[in-house]
This record gives sequence, C-alpha cells and structure tokens, in this order.
Amino acid sequence: MKLHSGKFSWLDTMPYLPEYPALQQNISCDCLIIGGGVGGALCAYLLAESGINAALIEKGAVATDSTLANTGLMQFSNDKTLVSMINTFGEEPGVHFYKMCREAVSKLVKLSRNLHSEEAHFISRNSLYFASSEEDLYPLREEYEALRRYNFPVEWWEKNEISARFSFQKPGAIYNYGDAEGNPFAFAHGLVEAAASKGVSVYENTEATGFEFQKNGVLCRAGKHKIKAKHVIFAVGYESKQFHKERGSYLTSSYVTVTEPIDHFDDWFERCLIWETARPYLYMRTTPDNRIMIGGLDESLPGGKLDEARYLHQGQMLLQMLHQFFPGKRQLKAEYAWGAVFGQSRDGLPFIGTHPSYPNCYFLEGDGGNGSVYSMIASEMLTDVLQGKDRPDMEWFSPTRTSRPAPAPNRRRP
Ligand SMILES: Cc1cc2nc3c(=O)[nH]c(=O)nc-3n(C[C@H](O)[C@H](O)[C@H](O)COP(=O)(O)OP(=O)(O)OC[C@H]3O[C@@H](n4cnc5c(N)ncnc54)[C@H](O)[C@@H]3O)c2cc1C
Repeated sequence: MKLHSGKFSWLDTMPYLPEYPALQQNISCDCLIIGGGVGGALCAYLLAESGINAALIEKGAVATDSTLANTGLMQFSNDKTLVSMINTFGEEPGVHFYKMCREAVSKLVKLSRNLHSEEAHFISRNSLYFASSEEDLYPLREEYEALRRYNFPVEWWEKNEISARFSFQKPGAIYNYGDAEGNPFAFAHGLVEAAASKGVSVYENTEATGFEFQKNGVLCRAGKHKIKAKHVIFAVGYESKQFHKERGSYLTSSYVTVTEPIDHFDDWFERCLIWETARPYLYMRTTPDNRIMIGGLDESLPGGKLDEARYLHQGQMLLQMLHQFFPGKRQLKAEYAWGAVFGQSRDGLPFIGTHPSYPNCYFLEGDGGNGSVYSMIASEMLTDVLQGKDRPDMEWFSPTRTSRPAPAPNRRRP
C-alpha cells in the first residue's frame, strides 16, 4: 500500500544517509524486528542496549514510510483528552496512560541526546492547545482542571493572554509544559546507526515474505533467505493491518505543508507547538531552519487508497490557513508538501502485544497523532518482556482488544 506522496522536508536535513546491505544468507537471532521506521528503530536501540541479540529487516530503506511523513511533535496530551480517557477507561487507567505518555516524551528527549548526529536531537517545547470555538471552551476548561488535578504541568490562558503572545485570537487555551519537537527521520536513522554499532544486524531492501511458527520460535522467510528467531517484533506501521484484521483502527489521509524559511517568530510565543480542539485538528510547529510546518485537513481515503495528487490542493489550503493565523507575515511559499495515510485507533490507545495467530511474536502499532510517543512506550515494554520482566500493563494495549472490554492497566511492578 502506498503510504505517502509529495516532497518531504526531512530528506533534505541530513548531511549523509547511512545505508545497510540486503540479506544475503540465512541468519538466526534472539529477536527479529520487522520494519525500520521509528518503532522498529527504537526497539533495535533498546534491545541492543539490553544486550539482546537482535536483527532488523526493512523492506525498503530505513525511515522512509510513515516516519518520513511524521511532523515530529512529541506531546503528552493525546488526540483523546484525559477527560475522555477517564470516561472510557476509568480514572486510574486514564491518568496512568497520560503519565506514561508524559514519561515517554521525556525519555525520547533524553534518548535522542545520546545519538551521534545533531539532527536527531529533540528540543523541549511547550504546547498551546486552543479552543477552536466558543462551544469548545467549557470542555477545554474541564480538560485543564483534570490535567491540573493530576499534576500535569499546565496553565489556563484567557483570550487576552493568547492575543498578547500571538497574532491570532482564540477564546481560551491550555498551555502545556514539557513537550518536544524533533526530526523523526534523523532520529530513526540515529537509532538504527547506534543499534548497528552495538551489534544489531540491519538489512535494508529485505522484506519478510512468510512465516513458519514453531514451538520455540519463528522461521521468517525473506525472499530466498531464512531468519530463525526466538521472537519477532512486527513494527510494520500501518501495514500491520495486512497481518491481522482486527477492526480496532481505521485509516484516513492527512496533509502537511512546510514553508520557506522566515525571518522572525516575534508573533509566535516560545515557538511552541500549536494545536486545537476541533477534530480533525490543525497543528503547527517551527523547524530548526526557521520554517513553519502546518498539518491537518484529514479526510477519508477514497476507495481505501491515498489520492496521490491531493496533497497539492490540501497543501495550498493549509498555506491559506496559516496566513489567517499569522496575517502579518509576507506571502509565504510552500517549499515542501505531502499527503500521507494516517492510522487511528477507535479507543485512542496504541496496539502493543501478542496475537493468538502469531505465537512468539509481538506487534507494535503506534496509531494516532502521538505515534512516536506510543512507539517509545511500546519499545520499552517489549524490551522489558523480552528480558523476562513482567509488564501486566501490556494487556491493556492488546491488538485483539476490540473483541472484549479492555482490562485496566495494572501499575508496572518494580
Ligand atoms: C502526516 C503524519 C504526521 C504525523 N505526525 C506525527 C507527529 O507529529 N508526532 C507523532 O508522534 N506521530 C506522528 N505521526 C504518526 C507517526 O508517523 C507514526 O505513528 C510512526 O511513524 C509510525 O512509525 P512506525 O515505525 O510504526 O511505522 P513506519 O514508519 O511506517 O515504519 C514501518 C516500516 O516497516 C516496513 N515494513 C512493512 N512491511 C514490511 C515487511 N513485510 N518486511 C520488512 N519491512 C516491512 C516499512 O517499509 C516501513 O519502513 C504522523 C503520521 C502522519 C501520517
């Protein structure tokens, strides 16, 4: 399935791109990771750190699927609000999940700092989450109260406090501290490079084409060659829908425009991440080379497929919207724009864990706008499990959970 089309800004940010050979022989390992996006890259890095003998195969080139389309906002607030999480799952699980996300953002920033290339480093940023309309003001205020009650670092800003800091007016907003922004493409490359240097065997242009599930492991076919592994992690992104058919998620399309560099951000407080209460939402960030990245306008996939030319139209719409937010800026040009398939789970949680049809295997699927944050949570969980540590909270994210009510996540045992 084609997952994106357009011109991607991240491709022009790296001075060199590491390359890896295709698999040329049969191999064996303790854990085979299938997929070289940010999810697989995080697993490779953490497994290498914990001394597990791992291999990673990627059917194309590292980080060139959804990770290339990812706009790199790392936030602890989710598409599904804390209030809504609590309403759906109960107070303790809802708050626990938000705390996991907050920790995951901090870990992503910390971990990125260990990577060799500067492009891979995340920058701490705060987020403005504004009410898109007067009707959204009350629920947003409720969300703020809930976040405050559980000690999340947030402030409430009235209309005049927003207009004093930005060139636009909004009825009210939550200002979150402790989020981050980064370059997911460089980050995934940095992780894979570091994992390879710690002993993970990495193969590009190597597709997993078949599986034999055995008592003590899995035999994975990759073209003419075989990989024998005790465990397999499927980190194949939205393509996991090809492997198992649960209906807990759905695919849409989403669009991004990146402007030419601009000369100042005086009308943009702290160059924070910006998003809104409307669904689908618009979001904006700035980049280290002083561009604005604006995304949103999500819509259904006509005929289940990405319309590969649609990003040209949607990109222009995004640019017009950007000018409504920042009317003082000169007419900006779009230097990059893309459209991409975007996966969302129905209950707002990622999918992490086992599947009865795939013994000795784990799935990692970071559906939703915080896919990279979920990948951090998932890769840490899977590394723990593969080291024999108990992670009862993984059950909450089960890929098969649509067929039964989700159990509450137990707190992680020390
Ligand atoms: C427009 C857009 C903006 C986004 N913005 C954000 C954001 O700001 N913040 C955020 O946290 N998330 C964001 N996301 C979500 C995020 O991009 C995804 O959740 C994340 O990239 C998924 O990473 P992944 O590694 O799971 O998947 P991918 O990056 O798609 O990687 C999966 C890899 O598996 C490989 N593969 C598939 N099948 C096989 C096979 N059989 N054999 C070998 N290899 C295989 C593919 O080639 C691919 O490289 C955004 C998504 C989109 C579409």
